[in-house]
Amino acid sequence: MSAEVMHRTETFANWTYYPELLERPVPRYTSYPTAAEFVEESFEQRQGEALQALRGPVSLYLHIPYCQEICWYCGCNTGAANKTQRLAAYLEALHHEIELVARNLHPSVRIARIAFGGGSPNAIKPTDFVRLVDRLTVNFRLARPVISLELDPRGLAANWFTAIRGIGVIKASLGVQTLDARVQAAIGRVQPREHIERAVAGLRQAGVDSINFDLMYGLPFQDDAVLADTLDQSVAMGADRIALFGYAHVPHMIPRQQRIDASELPDQRARFRMAAEGYARLTGAGYKAIGFDHFALPDDDLALAATGGTLRRNFQGFTDDQSPVLIGLGASSISEFPDVFVQNEKNAGRYRTLLGADRLTGSKGVARTDEDRRRGAIITDLLCRGRARIDGDLLEASRSRLEPFTAIGLARFDGSTLELLPGSEPYTRSIAAVFDAYRGGAKQFSSAV
Ligand code: SF4
Repeated sequence: MSAEVMHRTETFANWTYYPELLERPVPRYTSYPTAAEFVEESFEQRQGEALQALRGPVSLYLHIPYCQEICWYCGCNTGAANKTQRLAAYLEALHHEIELVARNLHPSVRIARIAFGGGSPNAIKPTDFVRLVDRLTVNFRLARPVISLELDPRGLAANWFTAIRGIGVIKASLGVQTLDARVQAAIGRVQPREHIERAVAGLRQAGVDSINFDLMYGLPFQDDAVLADTLDQSVAMGADRIALFGYAHVPHMIPRQQRIDASELPDQRARFRMAAEGYARLTGAGYKAIGFDHFALPDDDLALAATGGTLRRNFQGFTDDQSPVLIGLGASSISEFPDVFVQNEKNAGRYRTLLGADRLTGSKGVARTDEDRRRGAIITDLLCRGRARIDGDLLEASRSRLEPFTAIGLARFDGSTLELLPGSEPYTRSIAAVFDAYRGGAKQFSSAV
């Protein structure tokens, strides 16, 4: 980087802003190869073989692709839960998939974790949630699994807390995004603070010991002060974990985002400053930073995993889950097997039709080669541990490509170990992308900040 560029740099909190290094959109690396490398074809047979080959502990993810109200910014595979018949038909198919997948498993397979996500799992009735857990109980061997649940705090009915206590859910994640009324109106998600407080109190009373708040920066009308206020309120409400994601405005890919006024969005420099100030504010409040956009109280399992060097990435993001296998159930769910990633049919109608014919629904995916696993391990190590051993041909090949980062002190080589240095947090994904053999300037990813 030239002296002139270095001269022009600005520093916000503890991060120096190098716009050139953030220009290239990069994946979030919840997998490698990423979902962008998935090919569309039937994975039914490979999905069946992968299920049959499993042994030992595995984790489950169940997807509920419905929400009571659709937020304008949302990029999830979800639809409005306003048709009872549609919801009932989906749940019937999901019950069928549970039975079908369980039939394919070896008796040694034990379920160590169950995560419910969406959409909003509380778009279904709590009685339907209990029935789903019952179906899992009679079809799988559950090994006292850790059960987690994503929830929309808007209209979270009291009978949900009864179900949560009865089932023994101990981790929950609330979609909060922002507590500022003007920003909420601009993104189509109006939820007064009382809704969040009620949800937190109900979850605590129901025995949930880890509550995550999903928050966003880079929203319309948001500035440092507006974000700081949301962060302070979230801390005061006792969030054990906070995920602070940058809003990616891509209305050409997510048509519902067309309702958001792009002229009110902060620019990249303002986004960077918000991310930097947010990071400093949360770490200053006693949270441990997990990567550059997750934070957890020091006694939370995620922070303990980060401290103990056992943090991992899976399709849900950073996790302390040690199972290398994740079986995804529900439309669009992704399964992570040792040799292949498989995504279920995304379209709820086709998903139901395939299950009606007693067929697994894998319709996209990618095989994982040894080289994928090698590069994936480096990317995971960089994101989760801030250092990675680079060997063989990759060591020399990566040196020159890492030069823009090493030259300005964001990373350095110690022998064959690449170390990320303080201040590199917002550039971590860009540094990791150096080891991504599939990167070709694809535009479908979000900005690194
Ligand atoms: S509640 Fe969550 S999943 Fe549903 S539309 Fe809003 S952001 Fe998306």
